Amino acid sequence: MPDVRNWQLGRTMHYPFGERRPERQFAFVINTNRCIGCQTCTMACKSTWTFGKGQEHMWWTNVETKPYGGYPQGWDVKLLSMLGPQPWSDSGKGERSSPYGTYDGETIFEAARTRPAAPGQTVLGYLPTDAEWAAPNISEDTPVGGKGEPGKYHPTGESLPVHRTWFFYLARLCNHCSWPACLAACPRKAVYKRPEDGIVLIDQSECRGYRKCVEACPYKKSLYRPTTRVSEKCIACFPRVEGKDPEGGGVPQETRCMEACIGQVRMQGLVRTSPEGGWAEDPGNPLYYLVHVAKVALPLYPQFGTEPNGYYIPPRWVPRPYLRQMFGPGVDAALERYEHPDRELLAVLQLFRRDHRIIGSYERLDGRKVYEREIRGRTWAMYDDTVVARGLDGKELFRTRVEEPVIVRDGKHANTI
Ligand code: SF4
Ligand code: SF4
Repeated sequence: MPDVRNWQLGRTMHYPFGERRPERQFAFVINTNRCIGCQTCTMACKSTWTFGKGQEHMWWTNVETKPYGGYPQGWDVKLLSMLGPQPWSDSGKGERSSPYGTYDGETIFEAARTRPAAPGQTVLGYLPTDAEWAAPNISEDTPVGGKGEPGKYHPTGESLPVHRTWFFYLARLCNHCSWPACLAACPRKAVYKRPEDGIVLIDQSECRGYRKCVEACPYKKSLYRPTTRVSEKCIACFPRVEGKDPEGGGVPQETRCMEACIGQVRMQGLVRTSPEGGWAEDPGNPLYYLVHVAKVALPLYPQFGTEPNGYYIPPRWVPRPYLRQMFGPGVDAALERYEHPDRELLAVLQLFRRDHRIIGSYERLDGRKVYEREIRGRTWAMYDDTVVARGLDGKELFRTRVEEPVIVRDGKHANTI
């Protein structure tokens, strides 16, 4: 089995195919601190792609309440316990090739070699039961209680920075992984990763419905359709990303789930990749800035080893051990930065959901100082900077400011009901 470089793990790892990166990679950042669990993203996807017969249980994107919710139920806790110990060390920590240190445990590809459940199994995984697929939002809005019991409030759980009563919304979709487990496991080679944008697709004419991708995907984002007897998954709204959606006027647009986000927590784009592995340096790209410069956005369960291309700004009120397990050892530094944002980070955060077109780069223009005050023991200043967003072709898409303008309406029609 060849070795490939996984920068999220700070090391090389086993994968059934050799090192190969697309020209550009589909990627996204979700700010969990601002998600309100409205499920608009979920329904935007459902009503676009999975409203047909046999797709009733298919939620290519979903929002689950952590820690108890999950679709399919228990998808992450099941695999975490199958995987065993997941230690990290500080070796190389902070370097561009290993920003979170080094993962010393086994990935799902490595675990399949040391303890395969079946002969020839290339990926450690499991097939969820029908019951686990049946209810997409079970445990929605259920908090951790005083003694770790669901549904109870802790009597002193109201104090920041870490609530003792807590839950948060985790919005999920296919991560269009750099080393997809679905692709590694498919005996028909029906799953492929597009060289132009890294989007992972299932060739419907090649698939025979063996469900090896469903078993292998650690995020359980490949799903079986009983009416056609083949598997389907998120297609990253590729006509939109290619700029071929008639509504987009020929300009690449973000996916439907991103565009529809009410909480303005999602941003999707394309990042340039490097032949040495990982992302090429591109500080003007807002996704690159959030992941590699500010390091506030972290991969979901990087220890699985697929190098997922979905990144999350972790929720700041959740106990750190839980977050470290979910997003890796970069959590503390990410939250420190997010809680004390400098003017660059504050400016980039303004870009979320100001437009439906893909942002290729941004520029921050200095504005006036609005105020200065003490926040959590530190002096912090806010500046009304302007952020200019440009498309993939370098043309300006829009500009916005850190301080939202207050617009007072003409009172003439204030009471029209
Ligand atoms: S999230 Fe799952 S379905 Fe999507 S590319 Fe990764 S392994 Fe494949
Ligand atoms: S639309 Fe946005 S705010 Fe609403 S659930 Fe989805 S990610 Fe969260």
